[in-house]
Amino acid sequence: AVGVLAVVGRPNVGKSTLVNRILGRRVAVVEDTPGVTRDRVSYDAEWAGNDFKLVDTGGWEADVEGIESAIADQAQVAVRLSDVVILVVDGQVGVTATDEHIVRMLREAGKPVIVTVNKIDDYSGEYMAAEFWKLGLGEPHPVSAMHGHGVGDLLDVALETL
Ligand code: GDP
Ligand code: MG
Repeated sequence: AVGVLAVVGRPNVGKSTLVNRILGRRVAVVEDTPGVTRDRVSYDAEWAGNDFKLVDTGGWEADVEGIESAIADQAQVAVRLSDVVILVVDGQVGVTATDEHIVRMLREAGKPVIVTVNKIDDYSGEYMAAEFWKLGLGEPHPVSAMHGHGVGDLLDVALETL
């Protein structure tokens, strides 16, 4: 069976943009409005000759009800079914309480997690990724899903972990 990478994180951090970047085409829906991806959506992907499944999820929010809570449930299902989790955070915003909440959920799930600091659009911003060491999940990987910087390195690490 091919490995499964789940892409999780709070709304609007750029999960769907990253998924599109990895797929090399615009399939996942990107929106300025948080919470557009409501379900788990699984795509067949390939990197450096390796096939894997890439799962985009809706934004995970803490202590929410109704549709928001259903979206968070789907993210948890995605984590449970995955081999490696790509946790996307926003390097322009820094660590938020919701990020920390997601980290607690991921610790309970016990899957390997790769901290991916998105929106580091130029190299002068790379120092901003260091703040995410405090999540306690190891080395933060700076990327710009929009421009593609760092995405190849991220996939190398993810596929080594698979
Ligand atoms: P999701 O809710 O986590 O799936 O986030 P989206 O992929 O829908 O993106 C949310 C917003 O962030 C959109 O306006 C994107 O254009 C923007 N965005 C995504 N990646 C980047 C990035 O690398 N740099 C910048 N500056 N903006 C980004
Ligand atoms: Mg999305």
